[in-house]
Amino acid sequence: MTTRAGIVVTGTEVLTGRVIDRNGPWLAEALRVYGVDIAHVSIVGDRPDDLRDALRFAAGSGVDLIITSGGLGPTADDLTAEVVAGEQGRAMRLDPELEQQIAAIVERLSANFGWPSDPEATAAATRKQAMVPDGASVLAPVGTAPGLVVPVGPGRSGPPVVVLPGPPRELQGMWPAVLETPAVQTALAGRAELRQSTIRLWGTRESELAETLREQDGHLDGLEITTCLREGEVEIVTRYGIAAQPTYDRLHAVLAQTYAATAFSLDGATIDEVVAGALLARGLTVATAESCTAGLLAGRLTDLAGSSAYVLGGLVVYSNQAKHDLAGVSMELIERVGAVSPEVAEALAEGARARLGADIGVGITGIAGPGGGTAEKPVGLVYLGVSGLGQTIVRKLNLPGSRADVRRRTVVIALHQVRELLVPLEAT
Ligand code: ATP
Ligand code: MG
Repeated sequence: MTTRAGIVVTGTEVLTGRVIDRNGPWLAEALRVYGVDIAHVSIVGDRPDDLRDALRFAAGSGVDLIITSGGLGPTADDLTAEVVAGEQGRAMRLDPELEQQIAAIVERLSANFGWPSDPEATAAATRKQAMVPDGASVLAPVGTAPGLVVPVGPGRSGPPVVVLPGPPRELQGMWPAVLETPAVQTALAGRAELRQSTIRLWGTRESELAETLREQDGHLDGLEITTCLREGEVEIVTRYGIAAQPTYDRLHAVLAQTYAATAFSLDGATIDEVVAGALLARGLTVATAESCTAGLLAGRLTDLAGSSAYVLGGLVVYSNQAKHDLAGVSMELIERVGAVSPEVAEALAEGARARLGADIGVGITGIAGPGGGTAEKPVGLVYLGVSGLGQTIVRKLNLPGSRADVRRRTVVIALHQVRELLVPLEAT
């Protein structure tokens, strides 16, 4: 039997999408390592009734552990501790030691930020945050709010509820303490790690992969396989217990062989990491000259720490004049074939390489839209040039979607083109 957990994320700002939930995914990954599978993540606003319903749903679904995030602050809409206490059948009591601890933190913060203090309001807020359910383990605040682990009260049955603050930094900082509490240790006792392996393909259709997996039917016991299409990459994520490792190894070998020509990552590395790794391993450098993506590729290439070892720089060459002045593309060429052309993509790639002295140059020119398209050069038409290692590759792309989609997809395809130049994949 797998141990399963339910997560309840609270916060009207998360419910309405003003803030993207980072706690559910983070907790899911933190729990996986301890062999705990996520049954569901619910998101509710700052409304006690909705929180209560979500807690009841989770408890009723038979999970072994419930974790909440948010609603631990000092304001009136922060009600998680109280609602959880009610559901677990426990009374709230003041924890005087905690009250002093929080008071000291608040005082230090006020002093650091130079906030005017209102002793009465501060005392009331502090007292509210120091109210804890009877019988709960208190987790020391990382910010100002303490966390809680609340087992069910006497005469009841149900999973313990771990109550954590909303700010991701605070929630993550408190996690080691969560694992030390008796109620959580009991819930996790004897659980072996749940493993997760990821393979990424570029240029294989999801339906083709589904067919391969169907053929393996009967050899996949103990594996939970999910496939998903992301930015043109097919991602295969498999979760399995330690006992199913040999089953996974077999599947891994089958996929590696079947998709030798498209599996650019067999160890979970992202395309960014694959490109970075290949450049580093060979001591090569890259530079860009971007028109319609205007620096997005350079930005992406420098997302990873340590990128200064292989990224020399990027030219943003939006106008024709800039293409000429910065990347050295001849005005005569631009006038003759147009800025959005294979010739100019190639000239940009070579210009970036020459001007910055890089081993590999990438040139991008296209029509991101929504305006500016013509019958011969419609929105979504992009030319991508990659030059270096004695080769020049120019590709014509016809990308669907919005301006943002076209620009983002171009960057991903450019990364794959660079990877192709560095580590060509071949069918075996
Ligand atoms: P406090 O109010 O003391 O900061 P809290 O426990 O009450 O702590 P919330 O009020 O729910 O936490 O959230 C505070 C802030 O933390 C939110 O405005 C948001 O910026 C961030 N936050 C909360 N929940 C999440 C979440 N699930 N994902 C990402 N950020 C979140
Ligand atoms: Mg709050």
